[in-house]
Parts: sequence; C-alpha cells; structure tokens
Amino acid sequence: MNRFESVSRRRFLLTAGATAATSVLLKGCVGNPPETATNSQTSPAASPVISVKPGEEPEVKTVKLGYIPIVEAAPLIIAQEKGFFAKYGMSEVKVDKQANWGAARDNVKIGSGGGGIDGGQWQMPMPYLITEGLITDNTKIDMYVLCQLNTQGNGIALSNKHAGKNIGLKLDNQVALFNQLKASGTKFKAAYTFPKANQEFWIRYWLAAGGIDPDAEVELLTVPSSQTVADMKRGAMDAFSTGDPWPYRIVADKVGFLSALTAEIWKAHPEEYFALRKDWADKNPKATKAILKGIMEAQQWCDNFDNRKELAQILARREYFGVPEEVLFQPLMGKYDMGERTIDDKSMAVLYWKDSKGSVSYPYKSHDLWFLTESVRWGFLPKETLTTAKALIDRVNREDIWKEAAKEAGIAAADIPTSTSRGVEEFFDGIKFDPENPQAYLDSLKIKKA
Ligand code: CA
Repeated sequence: MNRFESVSRRRFLLTAGATAATSVLLKGCVGNPPETATNSQTSPAASPVISVKPGEEPEVKTVKLGYIPIVEAAPLIIAQEKGFFAKYGMSEVKVDKQANWGAARDNVKIGSGGGGIDGGQWQMPMPYLITEGLITDNTKIDMYVLCQLNTQGNGIALSNKHAGKNIGLKLDNQVALFNQLKASGTKFKAAYTFPKANQEFWIRYWLAAGGIDPDAEVELLTVPSSQTVADMKRGAMDAFSTGDPWPYRIVADKVGFLSALTAEIWKAHPEEYFALRKDWADKNPKATKAILKGIMEAQQWCDNFDNRKELAQILARREYFGVPEEVLFQPLMGKYDMGERTIDDKSMAVLYWKDSKGSVSYPYKSHDLWFLTESVRWGFLPKETLTTAKALIDRVNREDIWKEAAKEAGIAAADIPTSTSRGVEEFFDGIKFDPENPQAYLDSLKIKKA
C-alpha cells in the first residue's frame, strides 16, 4: 500500500488538495521557498483529488474572485490554498486581493472580461446596491448572494486618548463626553472601510444603543483598513470599525483599545458574503455550485480550531494579508486583548461554518432583510424599500443554489436550514428584529433617521 492508499477516505476528503504542486508554483512566483508540511492537516505532496461526479462537471475551470485582506476572506483563500476549488473541477480559480472595497465594486462592474472580477467577498448590502445601480453610477449589475463567508470577527477600536473613560460595549453616561467633544470643536470621529455597509452599521448601532446620535454627535468617515493604525496614531480618528486583524492590531501596536466586539453587539450576526455576477452564474450554473462546494469545504476547515494556527500562518503571508502571524492567531482563537479587558472565548471568535444559531454558510434571507431595514433606518435607502424588499431579496439571494450545492457536496441534512428565515434576532440592548415585521423594529428604535 502506498502512502496515499493508507490515508482513510474520510481524512482524504477533509485534507484533500494539498495542491503541493500548485503551492510550490505559487510560492515560486512570489519568491518564497516551498512550504514544508507543518502539521498533520497538511496532506502529502499530491495533485488535488478531483471529486467531480458525472453530470456535475463545471462549464469552466476558472473564475476571478476578489477579496479584502481581513479574516472574512479566509474561506476563499483556503479553498484556493488547500485545493478545495480544484477538487470540484475549478482548477484555475484566481483569488485576487482588492485594494479596497471601492476597487472591488469597480472590478465587478467591468467583470473578468474587462480585466476585473466575476464576484467574491462583499459587505452587505453591497450586492444589492450593485444590483440596483446605487453605487455603480446607475449601472445595474445583477448579483447573486450565494453564501455567507463568516460571522463575528469584527470589532470597534478606540483611540488611546479615550482610555480610562469607561467606554465599552455600553456607553453608559457617555452622552456628556460626546456633547463636550462636539462643543469644543473636536467632534468624535468614527471611521469604517466603506460607507453604508456592515462596518458603518455596527458602529452606528453601538453608538445609537448608547444614546448617541451618530448623525448629530459624531463625524463619520471612510478610511481603508490598512491606513487605520497610522490614522489613529496621528489622532485623525477616535474610533474605527472593521474586521480582524485591524482592530486587534490597534491594540497590539498600543495605539488604542477595543470597546466592543461585534459578537457582543449581536451574537452570531450576519457579516460578509460571497456573491457573483448573475450573468456569470447563469452562464455557468455547475461551476457556480462547484465554487460553492469548495467554499463550504474551506469553511469547515477554517472552523476547526485545530487548523487555526495554520490558517493564521497562511493568511499572514505577504501575498495575502502581509501581517504578523501573531496578531491573526490570537483573535482567531477567540483571545482578545481589548486593552482595558480581555476576552478568551472561542464562541466570540470569527466563525465560518457553524455558530450558536446554526449554519454560518447558509445565506438567510431574513438577514438580507435586516441589512435593507437598517439602510432604511439611517436614510440610506427610501422607506419604500421595505415594501419591495421581499421581491428584491428573492431575486438576489439564491439560497436555493446554496442548498443544491450543499446536497451535491454531501452536507448532512441537519446542517441545511429548512427555512429562509432565522427568526427573531436580539441585540445586546434588548432590541429585537422580527423579519416578519421590520417596521416594528424601526418603530422600537429611539435614534434613527427614518
Ligand atoms: Ca467585516
């Protein structure tokens, strides 16, 4: 029996696609030495094990996917690195780092045919805004939301100048501080990586829950995550909301502290998503499912905490995030030095496949509705959006394709949600969002524009 035959089928499936040949080529390109196996999760040198069933052969082998260097991107990077895309016949996937969210948007607008991308990682509700032409100069590019990449793994970092002022998850008695900053001409500045999406929503939710009107008491601005540490160091901002490793890095570099993790604001909250251009997915339906199968397998790999050391090593590499492995590894293990307190709880870490509410990967339509409702709350979208939201979500959210791919990949029935709604959601301040009645949620909020 050779070394490959000695590997059990189950293990083979879990670790398939060491893609050593591909990895060596890839590393050769960036001048790194070939990687040696670091632990038992790295399978021996082998070509990807192709697992394409008859009738499921993808129409094409290639697709160009964009990502932003934050932990949300891990399933795309791991599907590539571990050969999970190749396993399902997508052997020539290109996973491309995007300079920022605006660049990702511009690249999906032109598509891979124009030198851009076919889809990739998105904050919400970007795929909806692109579909409606709202952030693409009125050019409507239909998108399909196909899976959620992750939950949690995001946080709100504060500048050290606010240390010791009791600014944490709950902004009890902080209204006076914000008023005073405004009165003295140094309005509290809060930044995020792209406007009108997740990171802006998290910081707005956190402020408003604490009685601070983000539109009146705070100056909100957009800053790419890679600039955050420098900007906070030179005092250009008071707070920053983004994905790991950036909030954590602010603490590691001693320029600030973390006031809240998004996992504290809303446990198992919806975070970032995988979406493709509709024209690409419609033309290549089997390839779309093959990509999804690769992502799902990567999500299971990423969710295994035994793999997180290796995950940190891979993501830290210069061609991906280019950051010290340590600032990635700690938060990946749920170990957060918040600066003024510590959290050591794996259930608070970024999760990719399962969380306390069930499936992470499945794209719940009820979550898309929350993002659209929150957009209405802050006046980003008109009130009428709520009337037409269901039809729009039914067009953009293709959870049906996720389910087909999950079944083809042999995902256990128990891990495939039976409802497109996760039901009533509850936030840290006791506010509830019932997807059956988004207006009641808006009515229950004290600070809002709508
Ligand atoms: Ca994020």
